[in-house]
Amino acid sequence: MTVGLMRIIRRADADHRSGVVVPSPDDPGARVDATSWWEYALCRAWDADLFCVPDGVSPSRKRAQEKKAKGICQTCPVRERCLDEAMARGEQYGVWGGLDAEERRELERRRRGLRRSS
Ligand code: SF4
Repeated sequence: MTVGLMRIIRRADADHRSGVVVPSPDDPGARVDATSWWEYALCRAWDADLFCVPDGVSPSRKRAQEKKAKGICQTCPVRERCLDEAMARGEQYGVWGGLDAEERRELERRRRGLRRSS
């Protein structure tokens, strides 16, 4: 899958979620459905290229863009949910939930190791 296609999917993904209930960023005791929680995603206010860096961008520029994206994620009220979903679908591209693709793979390896040792 190309990164360009990933960006299109990212937008469509945000537009078509429904039926999933998550904590409300405004009131942790309340629940909102996923259509609503995507409305709280801070990345919606930014160009998708920042979170899914296009092919052909130099490694140093890619690192800088991903660092900026991760900084935005750190203050995002739906970060945990975003990361959970990216992990669940094995997302291979972009920054989701504050982690880039390699960091998510590393997290998955650690989780698998914990499951094996328990
Ligand atoms: S955690 Fe980051 S990628 Fe996920 S919705 Fe928030 S800003 Fe977007």
